[in-house]
Amino acid sequence: MAGERRFRGPIDLHTHSSVSDGTESPSQLIRAAAAAGLGTVALTDHDSTAGWPEAARMAGEVGITLIRGMEFSTRERFTSVHLLAYLFDPSDAGIVAETARIRAARLTRAEQMVERIGADYELTWDDVLAQTTEGATVGRPHIADALVARGLVLTRSEAFAGILHWEAGYYQPHYAPDPLFAIRLVRAAGGVPVLAHPATRGLAHMLPEKRLAEMVEAGLFGLELEHRENEPAAKVRLYELAAKYGLAVTGSSDYHGTGKPNRLGENTTSSEVLEQIIEQGTGTPPIYG
Ligand code: AMP
Ligand code: FE
Ligand code: FE
Ligand code: ZN
Repeated sequence: MAGERRFRGPIDLHTHSSVSDGTESPSQLIRAAAAAGLGTVALTDHDSTAGWPEAARMAGEVGITLIRGMEFSTRERFTSVHLLAYLFDPSDAGIVAETARIRAARLTRAEQMVERIGADYELTWDDVLAQTTEGATVGRPHIADALVARGLVLTRSEAFAGILHWEAGYYQPHYAPDPLFAIRLVRAAGGVPVLAHPATRGLAHMLPEKRLAEMVEAGLFGLELEHRENEPAAKVRLYELAAKYGLAVTGSSDYHGTGKPNRLGENTTSSEVLEQIIEQGTGTPPIYG
């Protein structure tokens, strides 16, 4: 028997390509990950696995381990909750149907936001389409890029702090499933679910312990606690809860190319945790490039 195939470190389990709101194609992203010195990278576009084949080819070429994943949009009452999902079967009927529904809802929502923005600023839906790769999961970042292209703001971050902020009056939510439903879908498709950046809203607006316990019951594997947007006090509390409920802890960059300041490998995940993800992820194998 051939020797066991091993992944290498450092390990970054959260990145985006132009298949969602990253600025680089899946190939460019994988090249950038290798150039940044990563041994393992996960591609986790929002609500889409369309970048998987291209990323897999390039991972083989540049010699990096690829964990195929996705960042699932879910909603908890009025707050959006992101769920990272690793190594699930991308042809699973439940996942295919749910992600198609979310992508369609995102598209309608973006069009409606642009219509409202367009009443006050020189911005059209064509401007947004010009910033979007065909078939990509559309989000506020694409509207931000259109605002930049129009010279209405200087950067994506400026757009998010102003016109695209939920308090600015143009914001609109989009359909997203309940987190418990998404966690069960991911597990049913052989995947491993990890709550993305769960401490971004701070201690006061943190996920209640009771909800976390329900997520654990539904099959949650871990919490992405090493992420630049997590707030320190909430992070400390969630480390305690991770220990209490036996949850794994991951760290990652949430790289979006030039779309966000986040740099590849700025946070990493331990090999022990990745080993468990690979053990439990039965829907798709890692690519040991
Ligand atoms: P949406 O899902 O369409 O509401 O947009 C949220 C997405 O925008 C997140 O997934 C982030 O990737 C991105 N985002 C949030 N804040 C910023 C920011 N300040 N600069 C760039 N991208 C951001
Ligand atoms: Fe994003
Ligand atoms: Fe996210
Ligand atoms: Zn992300």
